[in-house]
Amino acid sequence: MAKRDYYDVLGVTKGSTAEEIKKAYRKMAIKYHPDKNEGDKAAEEKFKEAAEAYEVLSNAEKRQRYDQFGHAANASSPNGGGYGGGSMNMDDIFSQFGDIFGGGSPFEGFFGGGGGRQGSGGRRVARGSNLRIKVRLTLEEIANGAEKKIKVNKQVLCKTCDGSGAKDKSSFNTCKTCGGQGSVRRVTNTILGQMQTTSTCPTCNGEGSTITSKCNVCHGEGVVRGEETITINVPAGVSEGMQLSMSGKGNAAPRGGMPGDLIILIEEIPHETLKRDGNNVIYDLHVNFVDAAIGTSIEVPTIDGKAKIKLEPGTQGGKILRLKGKGVPEVNSYHRGDQLIHVNIWTPKALSREEREMLEKLQGSPNFKPNPGKNEKSFFERMKEYFE
Ligand SMILES: [Zn+2]
Ligand SMILES: [Zn+2]
Repeated sequence: MAKRDYYDVLGVTKGSTAEEIKKAYRKMAIKYHPDKNEGDKAAEEKFKEAAEAYEVLSNAEKRQRYDQFGHAANASSPNGGGYGGGSMNMDDIFSQFGDIFGGGSPFEGFFGGGGGRQGSGGRRVARGSNLRIKVRLTLEEIANGAEKKIKVNKQVLCKTCDGSGAKDKSSFNTCKTCGGQGSVRRVTNTILGQMQTTSTCPTCNGEGSTITSKCNVCHGEGVVRGEETITINVPAGVSEGMQLSMSGKGNAAPRGGMPGDLIILIEEIPHETLKRDGNNVIYDLHVNFVDAAIGTSIEVPTIDGKAKIKLEPGTQGGKILRLKGKGVPEVNSYHRGDQLIHVNIWTPKALSREEREMLEKLQGSPNFKPNPGKNEKSFFERMKEYFE
């Protein structure tokens, strides 16, 4: 099958800058990444094709030769003149990611991976798996941010062998197959000349040494089950279902590998009297109609403790009072929501004879006849005001 043009493969043009090519490849790599397309042969081919194209186009010298001669550059001059693009194995492709994604593959984090990737060369890139925990927070903790110390049950490095998995220092033997290099080279003669390929050493899995006797605490695993108390700084304004991540605080990886991440799932503990609505806090206030008619001052709970509010004479049920800045802050912002106080008029459910007699005197009174004039806000208007 004829090879596709490398520029077409990445969806760029001959005039594209190195940065544009890098960007295009990054997009392709994410789209066709095997972790996302498990078992999809077509996606794997596309993934490899893109990696090969990028390998050539990201190198100024190779790109220039490719521009001049196209794919023929490679076939006609195997001894140095070609652009050197060829089928790459998965390990090569993943080692390329360091420079594409700046530091490491993003996929472990994105796709909940972890536990290491099994490359086609058989090498296991040791990485501890991610760990998920739940943290329950009160409304006050959410509003002010909180420092939580949480005991986490996880894989920790074996103290006895310091994570090496070996019984002692003399338990290491330099790998005889690769001489400690971790990789083996094979030279094969082809009609185009000598071809050299490098692959991971099958004996030591790329580690360069083998263990002759295993640590008897972790049985060679390098990690054991343990406990760690982790201090989590929860920023103010988080909400139910939000996830925080602490890199390197997940399960430990043996033999110098990277530990996984700790994923923290936020749960809200419902407040007794206050309800959260986004960044606002809602409080349902019940006052009797005497207080509403005469006016009074009332204490209400807020996130920061009790606050006194004034009830104007003639306050109607359904009125919404606003305590500015008494809500929940936005994450990573100085903006803070408000507390909204919803006024409900309480009607007595039972009356003594005396109370009943007093109220009967007022029943026919002209001021007690409901008379919602034009100035009275409708339910719809109040709701609109509330959502502003
Ligand atoms: Zn080896
Ligand atoms: Zn051990």
